[in-house]
Amino acid sequence: METEAENIFRLTNALEETQDSPYCAAVQQQSVLTAILDIVGALVLILDRDSRIVCFNRMCEKVSGYEFTEIKGKCIWDFLIREEDIDSVKVNFERILKGDFPAEYENFWISRNGSERLIAWSNTAMLNDNSEVTHVIATGLDITERKLTEQRLQYLAHFDSLTDLPNRTLFYDRLSHVLGHSRRYNQMFALLFLDLDGFKFVNDSLGHDMGDLLIKMAAGRLPKCVRESDTVAHVGGDEFVIILPLLEKAREAAVVAEKIMEAFLTPFYLDTHECFVTLSIGISVYPSDGDDIDTLLKNSDIAMYQAKDKGRNTYQFYNSDMNTRALRRLKLENNLRKALEKNEFILHYQPKIDLNTWSVYGVEALIRWINPQYGMISPVEFIPLAEETGLIIAIGEWVLRTACAQAKHWQDIGHKGLLMSVNLSARQFKSQNLVLLIENILKETGLSPEFLELELTESVVMDDAEAAIKILRDIKTMGVHVAIDDFGMGYSSLSYLKRFPIDRLKIDKSFVRDITTDPDDEAIATAIIAMSHSLKLKVIAEGVETNGQLEFLRALDCDEAQGYLFSRPLPVEDIESYLKTRKVKSGL
Ligand code: C2E
Ligand code: MG
Ligand code: MG
Repeated sequence: METEAENIFRLTNALEETQDSPYCAAVQQQSVLTAILDIVGALVLILDRDSRIVCFNRMCEKVSGYEFTEIKGKCIWDFLIREEDIDSVKVNFERILKGDFPAEYENFWISRNGSERLIAWSNTAMLNDNSEVTHVIATGLDITERKLTEQRLQYLAHFDSLTDLPNRTLFYDRLSHVLGHSRRYNQMFALLFLDLDGFKFVNDSLGHDMGDLLIKMAAGRLPKCVRESDTVAHVGGDEFVIILPLLEKAREAAVVAEKIMEAFLTPFYLDTHECFVTLSIGISVYPSDGDDIDTLLKNSDIAMYQAKDKGRNTYQFYNSDMNTRALRRLKLENNLRKALEKNEFILHYQPKIDLNTWSVYGVEALIRWINPQYGMISPVEFIPLAEETGLIIAIGEWVLRTACAQAKHWQDIGHKGLLMSVNLSARQFKSQNLVLLIENILKETGLSPEFLELELTESVVMDDAEAAIKILRDIKTMGVHVAIDDFGMGYSSLSYLKRFPIDRLKIDKSFVRDITTDPDDEAIATAIIAMSHSLKLKVIAEGVETNGQLEFLRALDCDEAQGYLFSRPLPVEDIESYLKTRKVKSGL
């Protein structure tokens, strides 16, 4: 295709041929040429053999901010600022003079106001009768905006807009690059998987905007803890990954993890809130922990969960034991799906003692899973699994039905007034038809609602306190009791606590354990008991194992207690014999 400049010259040549008077022809030719050059939408420049400007159209004037009269005779390099552009234009110019054209290239022009414009040039030459180059014609397009858009799109495809860190796509790209390099040169590298502790709490309590702000601020601290050649990526939610290439020893990854944790010691300021945030970090190392991307990532993730299990705010290297645990988890999950239909669950019951009358006023139903392969599995292990998979809904329904039927049976055989406590998990509590389910089960089993109590952990009700209040009201309207379990472990807002229609607080066993020796635990238990009483709630201590703890709690005016001191959770037949007495002695 002909360039615009070629077109123009063809036109002017044609004009020349039709003119009789050489003077008239020259004038007309000049003005037509100028007019044409000025209306084309491209920059048109004509240079002589010394690269001096002899023609500069209106578009050139517009883009550069200079008038032709000001720059006439100046060298074209004067508009260029980048060394590499000057060099390449010189090379191209030389090539064109030698008859090697057209040449296409891009370079940055500096305009009068100092702004840089990116121009895409296309060159051709004017020849004399001896086919020698007399002039170089350059036509150009200002592609600055187009380039910026392209760069922005490129950026968006590879960087996370919230944090400005590499996104998942760029992370995978860099990781495969580092992996390839490490394989070839036999080098070690580490992958750090980071998760903010308690992020959900910030998000839920302060709102998503504050949650986003926290992620952004956290992201800002991370690159300062690593080398420039390392990659810090935001791969979603509150999760970050870091690639540390070229390690001499795995220990270097721990140094970085420690540095990161130290950087998080300073609180974040979210609006008016001072927020202390910690991190759990899992580390996998190439080649010992895997030699492909998926394995390394999976193992750093497993290690991160291990760090969470160890109490958070720590880092953890992957080791193969973790894999065994992860595998067990996977197998348990598969078995859990069939456990209900195979009747592998049973309920144990633990008595609850009224410390004023020393009588057993109720029992707590605690689920047990008897698996042919693994034996008895603790609910601490499988309830979270059931939660994650959603199986808790069916399992929870079974627990509620079995416990209610059992309670009704005990009422019928003479254990009048015995309260049956059943634990509800987060997912159950949030399930749409919970209230209807409870109603139906009570109807079906014939248990009177006042003999049923539901135990909900503090975090479950605080997760969405307003919604919880509504559900709790419905439950209370039915006549069913409610207790807040593991109290003291979460972050209760006292204003909410006042509004919750509940009957009882259960002091978490972690405060009871060292109550006689740890002044902090004593202070917490004292505060919970005093607060419960002022809110007209009963208070029960769980995990009471010694007489010392019991006496201490009694002195603090605790109403009720539950724990190994009185009895472990027992299977039906054993709890039935226990219940026969219903009275326990004071000072056991
Ligand atoms: P939880 O509801 O706080 O139950 C108290 C846990 O403390 C029980 O553990 C109980 O066996 C244990 N315990 C009782 N007395 C003592 C003591 O004196 N010392 C110590 N160290 N521990 C004591 P378990 O049965 O392993 O249950 C653990 C958790 O699993 C429960 O904590 C509850 O959150 C959950 N869970 C148990 N059964 C169910 C259920 O049917 N549904 C749901 N959603 N969760 C359940
Ligand atoms: Mg409980
Ligand atoms: Mg508890």
